[in-house]
Amino acid sequence: MSGRLSVIGCGPAGEHWLSPETAQLIARATDAVGYGPYVRRIARPGMRLHISDNREELMRAVLALELAAQGREVVIVSGGDPGIFAMAAAVCECLSEADQPRWDNVELGIYPGISALQAAAAKIGAPLGHDFCAISLSDVLKPWSLVCRRLRCAAQGDFAMAFYNPRSRHRPWQLGAALDILREEQPPQTPVVFARAIGREDEALHYTTLAEADPEWVDMRTLVIVGNSQARYFDHGQRRWMYSPRSYPVIES
Ligand code: SAH
Repeated sequence: MSGRLSVIGCGPAGEHWLSPETAQLIARATDAVGYGPYVRRIARPGMRLHISDNREELMRAVLALELAAQGREVVIVSGGDPGIFAMAAAVCECLSEADQPRWDNVELGIYPGISALQAAAAKIGAPLGHDFCAISLSDVLKPWSLVCRRLRCAAQGDFAMAFYNPRSRHRPWQLGAALDILREEQPPQTPVVFARAIGREDEALHYTTLAEADPEWVDMRTLVIVGNSQARYFDHGQRRWMYSPRSYPVIES
């Protein structure tokens, strides 16, 4: 008897950013697996909770697969979208690398959620209205040299950028180093917005420029948005907005 493993995301904050499809999966789940804050956010009466440390992704995926192989209805939960710097890749890695015949009949589903990038962009205006990329500044799972190469290429390609995991107590210097790379490639007045705790009670937006951006403002609950060369600020309704226009000016050759 095999059960189901649903890989879900609970959005960046609040029930209002949970999709109806995800809410249905939560309602019928017998077990929830994941990092404590996310599991507690979706906990329902009678649900078995399996809380693990945020750094143990593969072990967590194994546990979820084992529970599903026993016939249980399991959700494995990430913040935001489960496919963006989150558990969907760990579950796929387990299934593709491990030879565990008892997992063969587990019914797998991966369901989209609202990512921090979408929620932050909507609060800011439309900073990702043109081509953009998302980069995690964490060098826990990849070498810092690769992050640097991607930052430089993205800047040279004039992408708008969203930085996940920009700064934490254990990684205090990476954001400053990242901004220094961009300063070598992009104009000093490039808009930069720090979007902290979007959708939560202590939500805050900080509007700055590449020249003036101060990493001290940023913590691990912040998403950093850097505009492209066309991005601009404007004022409306007593507040500031930022957007990247839908098109580039025609360049005469
Ligand atoms: N899967 C998640 C990302 C996990 S990485 C998603 O799709 O959103 C964790 C990073 O996401 C944090 O370091 C922060 O950069 C960003 N983040 C998550 N929730 C956020 C929120 N409410 N406001 C701003 N940034 C957030």
